[in-house]
Amino acid sequence: MKASTPPPATIAQSHLDALKAIAGPGGWFESDSDTLAYRQSWRYGYTGTTPLVLRPKMTAEVSEIVAYCSQHRIAIVPQGGNTGLTFAGQPRETMGEIVVSTERLNKIRNIDLANDTITVDAGVVLQTIQEAATAKNRLFPLSLGAQGSCRIGGNISTNAGGVQVLRYGNTRNLVLGLEVVLADGRVWDGLRSLRKDNTGYDLKQLFIAGEGTLGIITAAVLRLFPLPTTSETAWIAVESPAAGVALLGRMKERMGEAISAFELIRRSIVDFTIQGVPGNEDPMRDVHPWYVLMDVSSQGAPGSLHEPLTEALASAMEDGIAQDAIIAGSTQQSKKLWKMREDMAEGQRAAGGSIAHDISVPVSDIAAFVAEADAALEKAYPGIRHCCFGHVGDGNLHYNPVRPVGWTQDRYMQEYQAVNRIVHDIVIAHRGSISAEHGIGRIKLAENTHYKSAVELDVQRAIKRALDPLGIMNPGKLIEM
Ligand SMILES: Cc1cc2nc3c(=O)[nH]c(=O)nc-3n(C[C@H](O)[C@H](O)[C@H](O)COP(=O)(O)OP(=O)(O)OC[C@H]3O[C@@H](n4cnc5c(N)ncnc54)[C@H](O)[C@@H]3O)c2cc1C
Repeated sequence: MKASTPPPATIAQSHLDALKAIAGPGGWFESDSDTLAYRQSWRYGYTGTTPLVLRPKMTAEVSEIVAYCSQHRIAIVPQGGNTGLTFAGQPRETMGEIVVSTERLNKIRNIDLANDTITVDAGVVLQTIQEAATAKNRLFPLSLGAQGSCRIGGNISTNAGGVQVLRYGNTRNLVLGLEVVLADGRVWDGLRSLRKDNTGYDLKQLFIAGEGTLGIITAAVLRLFPLPTTSETAWIAVESPAAGVALLGRMKERMGEAISAFELIRRSIVDFTIQGVPGNEDPMRDVHPWYVLMDVSSQGAPGSLHEPLTEALASAMEDGIAQDAIIAGSTQQSKKLWKMREDMAEGQRAAGGSIAHDISVPVSDIAAFVAEADAALEKAYPGIRHCCFGHVGDGNLHYNPVRPVGWTQDRYMQEYQAVNRIVHDIVIAHRGSISAEHGIGRIKLAENTHYKSAVELDVQRAIKRALDPLGIMNPGKLIEM
């Protein structure tokens, strides 16, 4: 049977009973109300259908479930915290897919301080890993707004980015080894904690950003870093994206490797977040069109970064690169600034009627991208409201234009594909990516096929067919077969 032949649309009751028996008591949900949280998307209010959510609690159970599904051609949607933003983690509308949640695979297996690694089950919540590392005086640097509910298997399967990629790299850079249940149920034990291993194809890379289309990750070995001993947070007003990029250059010259986060923020998203999410207020009295939120940290003595940062910011203001700057005076103030940044996705959602683009271009092209995309959208949709924020140190912006005033959300959503095409054509003209950190899922599936070369699509389809010949792993996501 070829992967291009979809698995049957419905699942026989006898199969559902057999799968429930494998997961055991407490290991499954089937009623509409119990499965709702596993079927709903965080963004855009999508709700899929499924006859069964399974919650295995060990790798052996995952293996048995997948082996059964492979034998009977039952489609599987792996799921972590269900915070993904591309409809990759929810079942489709067919009732023909079961969900396998990793939420009960939640043990921290080992911390190796000499090797600076932590080995965890795939269902451990990201924040739990951060806290476990901190308790041992180490840093696990992956950090993003959904960290209280996303799970590491989901982070790995989307190659999540977040706010510290500039210094520590994205999730791909943080993973040393994986344990994966393959699409036929066999367990691949790749839980190596090596920094050097040139023994052929690096299989783990296929599952990182694989969106559950090749297998189910059940555990991972992750890199840890020294815990910074001092840090500073600055909120800086700039006139334009070009000034933001110039500021990044100046800060790199002056602060070097100490820069751990550098976020560019448009005024409109500050307004949406203050209005839409309680507990946020304007950090500065004067209103500016753009801001940068920056963190620096190091292993130096507490407070040792304050003076160099103050001087670096003063030089940027003298040279007209920055208009104003605040350095957080306490940990509490720093947390407040970061809360606002983390609440921006929620602020955007509260504003309603935005069309999200998670794009990347070379950092040197950021200003040109914003200017060209703004102008093209204004021409097509007079009155459209520009909104963007993101990890500009990585060339990654969440470019989320909001419906023109007076338009209903429904009317704007009818333009979804057209708005995407305008923005993505400009991204591709700058040799950028239409998905910097959120993935493809279903939402970008057609766009991915449109922009990727035939050669690249062919190779990716060949990999999918080789690892999942029956096409049971998260069908209809990531790659159009
Ligand atoms: C408020 C908010 C802020 C966010 N900020 C960021 C950000 O800054 N950077 C960023 O990159 N993302 C961000 N995201 C998106 C999201 O949090 C990430 O994509 C996250 O990595 C998803 O993890 P999850 O556990 O929720 O995965 P899910 O949503 O459950 O799944 C995501 C994908 O991974 C697959 N999957 C999940 N677990 C496994 C597994 N064990 N094995 C195989 N496949 C699996 C699913 O099938 C699906 O394809 C944000 C989301 C929200 C809601």
